[in-house]
Amino acid sequence: MPLVTTKEMFAKAYNGGYAVGAFNVNNMEIVQGITEAAGELKSPVILQVSKGARAYANHTYLVKLVEAAIIENPEIPIALHLDHGDTFELCKSCIDGGFTSVMIDASSKPFDENIALTRKVVEYAHDHGVVVEAELGTLAGVEDEVSVEHGHESYTRPEEVEEFVSRTGCDSLAIAIGTSHGAYKFKASQCTRNADGVLVPPPLRFDVLHECIKRLPGFPIVLHGSSSVPQEFVKMVNQYGGNMPDAIGIPEDQLREAAKLAVCKINIDSDIRLAMTGNIRKYFAEHPDHFDPRQYLKPARQAVKDMVAHKIVHVLGSDGKA
Ligand SMILES: [Zn+2]
Repeated sequence: MPLVTTKEMFAKAYNGGYAVGAFNVNNMEIVQGITEAAGELKSPVILQVSKGARAYANHTYLVKLVEAAIIENPEIPIALHLDHGDTFELCKSCIDGGFTSVMIDASSKPFDENIALTRKVVEYAHDHGVVVEAELGTLAGVEDEVSVEHGHESYTRPEEVEEFVSRTGCDSLAIAIGTSHGAYKFKASQCTRNADGVLVPPPLRFDVLHECIKRLPGFPIVLHGSSSVPQEFVKMVNQYGGNMPDAIGIPEDQLREAAKLAVCKINIDSDIRLAMTGNIRKYFAEHPDHFDPRQYLKPARQAVKDMVAHKIVHVLGSDGKA
């Protein structure tokens, strides 16, 4: 099937009590790892491209890689989404360039400015058959061009969501309930430690989520910054020459809980980076004489595929929903 928007995906996910994974893509191995997992598990999937990914790989290369994935996986719905568009021009460029979904993130602007810019993108996008994700509230952490210091994040204010959605006409809304961008989602001082000395983050604010759901019945909610930062990958990185102390993510059981509610899209990026980096470091350490990129990118791609398959079955619940 051709590239789809997220409209039908989200309606089915909302009613079915699961979420669709939105995975960031930057190169061929990542596109292949994600879509092979989704294809085998018959899961819908969103491939998302950040401003940084476009700068790295080039718009055309990424679109063509995704088109190849569609040909190789004809039975599953795939959407191509712009992650964190920060200007009308960037969103327009992706809409004109074949994306089926864009995010306009004006969440750092005052409420009325966020509405005005989001509205402008929605009008252009809807005229071209493309859907729009917007954001209210700000997440802590660092992801490509988006950077918010810990302590400067703000939870979404549920009393604002109805007015925001009705005035902008956006198709889905990213909210801030305590998830965070990057592999260092929380400072150690925000956390407790378990018996093994691993940091345990503060729980997500399900009260905020429930309040938003009550005010926006039937409306798809999006969670950014939702990598779980698997400790097996962090250990692998550290064991083979890396140094990532206290890297920490969102516990998968909390994401699973959110996926059963109105959360229809869960963003995962850092876990892909960690799976690749951990496995490439391990490969280099075990095969110091190898120099063919195919040799170390193959296990990296397989690690992405295994990790995505795990998310689809155990976190998102989207297997068999294509
Ligand atoms: Zn994000």
